[in-house]
Amino acid sequence: MLEVVNLTKRYGGLTAVNDVSAQFRKGHISAIIGPNGAGKTTFFNLIAGAVAPTQGRILLNGEDITGMRADQVAVRGVARTFQSTHLFDSATVMDNLIVGHRLRTRSGLWDVILGSARLRTEETLCRRKAEESLEFVGLSHIADRLAGDISQEERKRVAVALALATDPQLLLLDEPAGGINPEETVSLARLIRKLAEHGKTVCLIEHKMDMIMSLADHIVVLNYGAKIADGPPDKVRANPLVIEAYLGAD
Ligand code: ATP
Repeated sequence: MLEVVNLTKRYGGLTAVNDVSAQFRKGHISAIIGPNGAGKTTFFNLIAGAVAPTQGRILLNGEDITGMRADQVAVRGVARTFQSTHLFDSATVMDNLIVGHRLRTRSGLWDVILGSARLRTEETLCRRKAEESLEFVGLSHIADRLAGDISQEERKRVAVALALATDPQLLLLDEPAGGINPEETVSLARLIRKLAEHGKTVCLIEHKMDMIMSLADHIVVLNYGAKIADGPPDKVRANPLVIEAYLGAD
C-alpha cells in the first residue's frame, strides 16, 4: 500500500534520511526503529507531506504522492499521531474529539453527506464520529472528563481516536507507547492490533523492543538516516548490524 523508493532528505550538509527504499503492506503492522537521530521522525514527516524529499519517490496505493502537501496526503488516507499529544486541557475529551474531527474533515465528502442528510448538522455528524472513535479506542467512559485530568495512556488513546477522524487507511503512530508503564503498553499494543484487524495499515516508531517484537509483522531499521535492515522481527533481531547499531548484545 505504501512504497518509498530511494527516499532522501537533506538539511544542508546533514542527511536525515538517506536513500531509503521500503514497502509497507496493507493490513500489516510495520515498525521503524533505530537510535536517536536515526531519521525516524523525518521519515514520517516525508510520508505525511510535512516536509518534501530532496530525492526519491513515495507511492501510496500506486499513486505518486511525492511532494504533496500534508492535507493532500491526508485526504488520500494517511493519518498520524505525534510523540506529544496536544489537547485542550480545559475542554472535555469529547469536545477535543469533536474539534479535532471538524478540523480534520473539512472535505467535499462532508458537503455531499450533509447535502443528502438535510436534518443532520455537521456538528451532529462530528459528534457521532467522535463517539465511534472514542468507543473504538476504549475510552467512552471518560468522554466527559477534562483532557487535563486524563492519564498519559488515555492521552495516547485519544491521539489514536483523533487520527481515526478521517477514516485513514494508513496510520503513522509516533511512539504510541512513550511514557506509559509496561501493563499499559500491553493494552496499547492490543489497540494497535485491533486497528490492523479492522483493515488499517499501521506504521509505528517505537523504542520499546518487547512491544515491537511481539506486535510488528515487519521492521525497518534506520541508522544515520540509512536503512540497515528490513524484514520480520526474528530476522531483524538476529542481524549483526542491528545488534551493533541499536539492540546491543544480550
Ligand atoms: P529520535 O528518536 O530522537 O526522535 P529520529 O530518529 O526521529 O530521532 P529525526 O528527528 O528524524 O531522528 O532526526 C534525524 C536527523 O535530522 C537528526 O540529526 C536531526 O537533528 C536532523 N533534523 C531533523 N529535522 C531537522 C530540521 N528541520 N532541520 C535540520 N536538521 C533536522
